[in-house]
Amino acid sequence: MRKQIAAANWKMNLSVSEAATLFDQLLVTEHNLSAHQEAIFAVPAIYIPLATQKLTGKNNYYVAAQNCYPKSNGAYTGEISAPMFASVGVKHIVIGHSERREYFGESDGFLAEKTDAVLAAGSIPIFCCGEPLDIREAGTQNSFVETQLKNSLFHLSAEEITKVVIAYEPIWAIGTGKTASSFQAQEIHAYIRSVFADKYGQAIADQISILYGGSVKASNAKEIFSQPDVDGGLVGGASLIATEFSAIINALK
Ligand code: PEP
Repeated sequence: MRKQIAAANWKMNLSVSEAATLFDQLLVTEHNLSAHQEAIFAVPAIYIPLATQKLTGKNNYYVAAQNCYPKSNGAYTGEISAPMFASVGVKHIVIGHSERREYFGESDGFLAEKTDAVLAAGSIPIFCCGEPLDIREAGTQNSFVETQLKNSLFHLSAEEITKVVIAYEPIWAIGTGKTASSFQAQEIHAYIRSVFADKYGQAIADQISILYGGSVKASNAKEIFSQPDVDGGLVGGASLIATEFSAIINALK
């Protein structure tokens, strides 16, 4: 069975004491994760030791990084590499979030390099893709997303691509309170899976978890996650509220 994942993206939020409190409040709830379900916390890098300590001994809960640099080491002041994250036990790294593409000018080619670095470190890229509003309004979202995937991921082998988690995040739905309808989510998730099936075969495509991101909250998670090609969510704002994110974890199928 494909992995079903609730991934929190805290972005650049919370003080260390607020972060500790959020974990404490969230972990009061017993989520009873099944073997195929995971809760992942992409926290600011400085809080990784705290998150690791809070999640010690809890099965299927993981700490993630929000970004990495593609080189392993060297004179890259301020950056953190995939092997460095791996060395502190971080197994998942978010790659190509739309905020990084937009504010930091990260190109498809650069994201291909980052994906390679994450895989070479033995870790799992959570690779983000998704269209802006004008593309959605023009109805060309499928080819837009397909190009992002082809440019950054199609050089990977079949074995490598099964290690990648995809997060489809329509930019017009991120942090806006607007959510894609479950129909819109299913439609493009199925298309993304077909893109991988055309390249790698259906059996490989069926192993790839595709998360939906864009204003997921407790009230809509169950319906969105119930779609056959939606394998959970990447959650920003609602992941900063313990009761909300708990309910989102519990909405996994
Ligand atoms: C995100 O940051 O990836 C995201 C989906 O944010 P939000 O849930 O706030 O829309």
